[in-house]
Amino acid sequence: MNYNLAVIPGDGIGPEVVEQTLRVLDKIGEKYGHSFTYTKVLAGGCAIDATGGCLPQETIDICKKSDAVLLGAVGGWKWDTLPGNERPEMALLGLRKELGLFANLRPALLFEELAEACPLKAEIVEGGLDIVVVRELTGGIYFGEKGFKETDLGPAAYDVEQYAEEEVRRIAKVAFDMAMKRDKKVTSVDKANVLESSRLWRRVVAEVGKDYPEVELNNLYIDNAAMQMVRNPKQFDVIVTSNIFGDILSDEASMITGSIGMLPSASLATGNFGMYEPVHGSAPDIAGKDMANPMATILSAAMMLRYTFGLGQEADDIEAAVKKVLAEGYRTPDIAKPDETAIGTAKTGDLIVAAI
Ligand code: NAD
Repeated sequence: MNYNLAVIPGDGIGPEVVEQTLRVLDKIGEKYGHSFTYTKVLAGGCAIDATGGCLPQETIDICKKSDAVLLGAVGGWKWDTLPGNERPEMALLGLRKELGLFANLRPALLFEELAEACPLKAEIVEGGLDIVVVRELTGGIYFGEKGFKETDLGPAAYDVEQYAEEEVRRIAKVAFDMAMKRDKKVTSVDKANVLESSRLWRRVVAEVGKDYPEVELNNLYIDNAAMQMVRNPKQFDVIVTSNIFGDILSDEASMITGSIGMLPSASLATGNFGMYEPVHGSAPDIAGKDMANPMATILSAAMMLRYTFGLGQEADDIEAAVKKVLAEGYRTPDIAKPDETAIGTAKTGDLIVAAI
């Protein structure tokens, strides 16, 4: 089977980590008889330099025609002085909107081999951690009405949190479907004791949950969830939450795993289409130095195989190869201990390809 990927290497370390990821995909193709066709397109700072805009129409068109999108990272010092709405990072918002990416999946997986990188006490995370935060990505307060008005206390600004039942229903389905492939547990996080939008959220999630009798559903208020995440993170399997709560909670969950260079993510649309990218940015401080950890992007490609292409065995293979390389003691500088000799981006790619 041939799969068509739109590939956005982007800026900074983006091209370096994407290069290693494509090698890994090619190896998977060779092993299982698939072929991957890559169409490289511009977005971010490199697109500004080449075309004047961070998200050319050609990029959007090619992404829409592809089976999935793989993205490195965008942004960098060179473009930091541009006005907010002209900066490379606007390409990400544009891609989410144009591609209808309403569900953001961020697994927080603590590899046993990197347990020391976890800032929590060893007994709290003993045996590892495996959580997925499912964040609503195109609604809520970030996209609601916003503005300024005069009040009794003088000038004020406001942002509206609003959710339509349908927006909640579709993200809840993503979470329950995910739980069915995992430990069959969903925790819905809201602020239903205070917010009307959260009460609607809670009711609709419960309605969707009726279609998944095997999945256990719990509700937590966001303040309690943030606390539970550091007190007893092992209680979580799939967490589903709104755009703003998910923004904060997914960062908290990923911090527990220690290194940003290890964290993949997926943003999904209706159907199987998705955009896959590491959680980290373009890391301009280490760009071009063969120091970037490519594992987050490689693990993002594994998510793509699993969620968009339904290739679970192939995804397992990539994850096992990453674990093997870590178990053998190989580390890029971001995850190496002071007394360990670190390896580079390309060598990490070589080792993962060889392990597959
Ligand atoms: P960053 O994630 O790029 O870097 C933070 C720190 O983590 C840096 O010290 C960096 O060297 C390190 N780091 C990040 N990824 C690494 C990897 N794979 N291996 C080893 N070390 C790694 O965040 P930042 O410095 O806040 O942002 C830099 C640029 O990236 C900015 O322009 C920002 O807007 C952009 N950004 C882009 C995305 C994206 O494309 N999705 C996300 C976040 C930030």
